[in-house]
Order: sequence, then structure tokens, then C-alpha cells
Amino acid sequence: MDNNTALLEELLVKKGLKRTAPRLQVLEILSGRDSATSQPYLEQLMGKSADRVTLYRVLQAFEEKGIIHKVLDSHGTANYAICSGKCTAKAHHDEHVHFNCNRCQKIYCLDNVKVPSFKVPAGFRVNHLNLIATGTCAACADQINSSLLNQ
Ligand SMILES: [Zn+2]
Ligand SMILES: [Zn+2]
Ligand SMILES: [Zn+2]
Repeated sequence: MDNNTALLEELLVKKGLKRTAPRLQVLEILSGRDSATSQPYLEQLMGKSADRVTLYRVLQAFEEKGIIHKVLDSHGTANYAICSGKCTAKAHHDEHVHFNCNRCQKIYCLDNVKVPSFKVPAGFRVNHLNLIATGTCAACADQINSSLLNQ
């Protein structure tokens, strides 16, 4: 068992979840990527090691425990990203902007870009706020620039 796996197991225990192979595998995949992972792609990556229902339950448990948060992309597909350490089973604190690249379709958590606060009318209560910026990510912008240079 490598260091990373030990850390992920620790996280599961800390969040009150039993260590199971599918849970560990999902955690490993999500924590090893720099962008959010869509549910269909996650299914693909898990292959035969977990059926759709198992994966659904794992994702649901993780979301409830404050381990991951869901982001819907412009097609309405669910994507999942690891939460910052501030999230708990009681409340998520992922008030950052998400960025959906039109070129590579990746969804990034812009952890340092906070969702602006605003006033809602009296009697309204915001439970969840989803702010997605679309455009070109830095990696794609680099590729575009270098392909222009090589022309
Ligand atoms: Zn969260
Ligand atoms: Zn991109
Ligand atoms: Zn995020």
C-alpha cells in the first residue's frame, strides 16, 4: 500500500465511512485529477470493479459526508470534484467558481475565485449556489498559441 492510499483510507475513516474497494478506487481517481470527473467517465474508469448502482451509492455517500461536490456541466451532466478540507457532513463550503472549458470540456474548481456574495429578497434562503464560467482553459490557450506560432 502506498502513501497516497493510506491517506485516502485515513480520510474515509475520519469521515465515518468503512473502507471498501470501490470507495477507495473512486477516491483515488478523483483525487488524482486536476479537474472534475464526469459520472460517465468515472463509470468507464471503474470498469468492471463496480456496477452503476454501487458507484451511485459511493458518490452519494461521499457527497453527504463532505468529501466531494457535484458540478453540472453545460450539458447537465454530473461531474464530481474533491472538496477542500473545510467541507463536513453538515455543510459544504465550495463557494468557488467552476470553469468549464469549451475546448477540452474539463471542469476546473477555481478554489481561489470565490463566488461573489449578494443579497436575496427577504424570506429567501440560498442553500446552494452554482456559478460556472465557460471559455478556454490555460492549457488549451497554450495549445492554441503554439499551433499559431507553428503555422
Ligand atoms: Zn464540499
Ligand atoms: Zn481546455
Ligand atoms: Zn469545485
